[in-house]
Amino acid sequence: MTDRENEVIIIGGGPAGMSAALVLGRSRIKTLILNTEEARNAVTTHSHGFLTRDGVHPTEMLAIAKKQLQKYPAVTYLNEKATALDHAPQGFTITTKGRQYSSKRVVLATGQKDNIDQLGIPGLTDVYGKSVYPCPFCDGFELADKKLGVFGPADLAPYFSKVIAHWSKDVIVFTNGEEVEDKDLTAGLKRNGIRLIEQRITRLISEEGKLKKVILEDGSSIGRQGGFLPDTKATEGVGFAQKFDLTMIDGHFGRLSYEVDENMETSVKGFFIIGDSRVGFGGIAKSVADGSTVGSAITHQLIEERWLPEVQVV
Ligand SMILES: Cc1cc2nc3c(=O)[nH]c(=O)nc-3n(C[C@H](O)[C@H](O)[C@H](O)COP(=O)(O)OP(=O)(O)OC[C@H]3O[C@@H](n4cnc5c(N)ncnc54)[C@H](O)[C@@H]3O)c2cc1C
Repeated sequence: MTDRENEVIIIGGGPAGMSAALVLGRSRIKTLILNTEEARNAVTTHSHGFLTRDGVHPTEMLAIAKKQLQKYPAVTYLNEKATALDHAPQGFTITTKGRQYSSKRVVLATGQKDNIDQLGIPGLTDVYGKSVYPCPFCDGFELADKKLGVFGPADLAPYFSKVIAHWSKDVIVFTNGEEVEDKDLTAGLKRNGIRLIEQRITRLISEEGKLKKVILEDGSSIGRQGGFLPDTKATEGVGFAQKFDLTMIDGHFGRLSYEVDENMETSVKGFFIIGDSRVGFGGIAKSVADGSTVGSAITHQLIEERWLPEVQVV
């Protein structure tokens, strides 16, 4: 596979890429999807908030998506890693181990990669996705009314704790050695019953991924049952978008997003970005929506390209 002409190549088969493939398959657009099957949320045990799939394991969602795509002959799904993306005036070439594929249109849906160990909190990777999470809309319900920690830098964690306090009245902000300089902010935390601990964390103690205690530099220990991270040091997994001179714009929660038009197309013609690759952290429903948008947009583009224009008689 595959010597046929691909009208679209999708790199990445998470919720965004698979949703795009579904819409394109139903439009009978020849689509190749390459996926290494390493979803960002694979560390978690249950995925929440996506209608009809609330509480399933992320791999279950992928398995259902793969099965449903089999119905569409226009879609070819390959468990292959794209290692290079090259752009020429006539289109794009994607390299995998020993193979090359080309197409006039490429959809980047490779998501983001979290780099939890860069946060410098020993024991954090043991609890990430098990009792400490990046997103309260994804996992806040399960942690509601528990003893929670917000672990992050002094310029982010206090603000994030305001959101987390919606789910629990017992929230402590841990800035791990950083001082919160804004005294209005510290006063606001105090007024709203949120404790602030600026001491360095020596270690998080957990059992089977469940957070139990936070051990501080002075040897004291604070009992906690779970928590949230305002920043996971996420990076664009493959760096393909960085090859192009694309504009970044402000997105949700201070994150940067790639600028795209209403079709999810970047300023590079034929190069589309969807899902977490585009926004940093969108969640499943928004990633699926991006995929659906790009699928119908590309179909419309191809319809326009094939439409014969009126012949001018002179
Ligand atoms: C711990 C945790 C818990 C979460 N819980 C929830 C939740 O409960 N609800 C919710 O809505 N969201 C949740 N999220 C967020 C959600 O996982 C993401 O927003 C969503 O998965 C983004 O979808 P995506 O398709 O853009 O990217 P991804 O799901 O990350 O998919 C990207 C795909 O691209 C593939 N890929 C990457 N590089 C290549 C390459 N070079 N070649 C081929 N394939 C490649 C990967 O293997 C992967 O399959 C959670 C995230 C984390 C980290």
